[in-house]
This record gives sequence, structure tokens and C-alpha cells, in this order.
Amino acid sequence: MTARLAPPISPDTEFFWNGLREHKLLIQRCKGCGTLRNPPRPMCPHCRSLDWEAIESSGRGTVYSYVIPHEPKFPFFEYPYIVVLVELAEGVRLVSNLCEIDPADVEVGMPVEVFYQNFDGTGTEELVLHQFRPGS
Ligand code: ZN
Repeated sequence: MTARLAPPISPDTEFFWNGLREHKLLIQRCKGCGTLRNPPRPMCPHCRSLDWEAIESSGRGTVYSYVIPHEPKFPFFEYPYIVVLVELAEGVRLVSNLCEIDPADVEVGMPVEVFYQNFDGTGTEELVLHQFRPGS
């Protein structure tokens, strides 16, 4: 597997990347009002609570939008690749890659499911990323 640029990991997002290492897609849920939010951030945009917990997503969703980048070319991607905005069944959206499909066959609204892929990180630690593929 090719190397990838490691994502920036902060105290606010660490739980998410740790979850991926256990093959869990975790979503923040506000303990104040129960609203789910992604990407992770310290404060609930609805009730401003700083208390939150993580729930495990089903990993299923649909394609909300997608792009197929052509330029600039990065050495760590195989072309073409699909950047997808997935609307998870839980109702939050997540940016990922869509794999195992011809770019010409991608449709908004199609069902997708998560899988996990190990990469060599640019640091010393192995990197686990969420990826999506067509689901049922
Ligand atoms: Zn809240």
C-alpha cells in the first residue's frame, strides 16, 4: 500500500482516528441535546455544550456528492480516484474516498458502506483510514 499524508490529529479529533484503528467509525454526540456532529469539534453548534460522547456509526450511507480530482497530481494517490461526501444513515456527512467502482458509474444517492484500509503513515505509526465502496 502506498504512503499517505497523515491527517492532522488534535485532542479534539484523536478519538476518531483511534476508532479507525479498531475499525470503528465514531461520531460525536452532544450530551446536552443529543445532536450528532462531524467533523469533530469541541462545542455543540446547537446548544453550546462542551460535553460529548462518541457513538459507533453503522458505516452505511449514501453518496451525497462527489468529485474526481485530476490536478494537481499527488504521488500517493492512484488516478483516477473519487472523493465522496457520504451522508451516513445516522444523518451526518463525512468526506472519504469511494473505491471499487468505475468513476463513470458513481451516482448521487447510491448506497455505500465503509471499509478500513491500512496505509504507511508519513510518521512512524501505521495509519488506518475509512474508505467507502458500493453497498447494498
Ligand atoms: Zn447540543
